[in-house]
Amino acid sequence: METGHPSTRLLAAYALGRATEGAELAVSAHLTYCAACRAEVARMEALAGALVETEGPEGEPDLEAALARLDEAEPEGGAPAPLRRGPLPAPVAEAIGVNFDEIPWRFRLPGVHEYSFRNEEGESVSLLRVRPGAAIPQHTHEAEELTVVFDGELVDGDRRYGPGDVAFADPSVDHHPRAGGDRPCICLAVLSGGLTFTGRFGRALNLFS
Ligand SMILES: [Zn+2]
Repeated sequence: METGHPSTRLLAAYALGRATEGAELAVSAHLTYCAACRAEVARMEALAGALVETEGPEGEPDLEAALARLDEAEPEGGAPAPLRRGPLPAPVAEAIGVNFDEIPWRFRLPGVHEYSFRNEEGESVSLLRVRPGAAIPQHTHEAEELTVVFDGELVDGDRRYGPGDVAFADPSVDHHPRAGGDRPCICLAVLSGGLTFTGRFGRALNLFS
């Protein structure tokens, strides 16, 4: 999978309605930018639908019949991209429940502000605003971290993520992402499980996280 897109597994979970709320929001945000993933999700939804419709008498899926049905009705490349509201894709603008200009940002770290708007079932969902050059201190993850960039640029090692790009990290990743470019980086962060800071001031930062 190319950098910047959700994994096939995540797109499938989304298409089948099995993604967590935060992951669903991250994918729907990415889909407003990415025609390729919209088409992929449309194909997965069509296949899932065809499998249900062509079930045999014992409820067993008939893959051949389902694929034949898909050939008859090629999906039309996914729905058109929903509108953006300010720097945010429409699904995110709706989810945060306030206008972008009125977001009650909270200071987290030098150059880093956060607006946390969902924290349920072990999943936290927030918007981050990171000043160019500012960084999230070195950390690793208890579980998974999904980040979707909406404005500016996120730099993680030798990878650069721009508007619409998705970055994924898990317990195997110990990283130090920072905002590149010359404008604040606005991104969505979906965390299942917490962060463990591992860098120079790690012990002190972990007290606050
Ligand atoms: Zn994509």
